[in-house]
Amino acid sequence: MSEKEETTAAPVVESVHCRLCDGGTMRRALIKPYNLNVGIVLIVAGLLCLATGVLAFFGLLAFLFGIYFVWAKKDVWLCDKCGAIVERI
Ligand SMILES: [Zn+2]
Repeated sequence: MSEKEETTAAPVVESVHCRLCDGGTMRRALIKPYNLNVGIVLIVAGLLCLATGVLAFFGLLAFLFGIYFVWAKKDVWLCDKCGAIVERI
């Protein structure tokens, strides 16, 4: 009977204990800090302005902001147990 080998080279996973529910483990997660719908509305509005030539400059700004809103992600700690989100500093 051979002894069950333990994997000593555990993967380096950053984790911290949750302070809110006492027992949960927080893991790194990427969340979207902005409302996706707002970004889409901005993109559509921006494209409309650009397409019609009316307020083209505003349209371009709205479009760029929309892209940013949709693509932006935030690196946070997320608790597996209670779902608490803590910003990473
Ligand atoms: Zn928690």
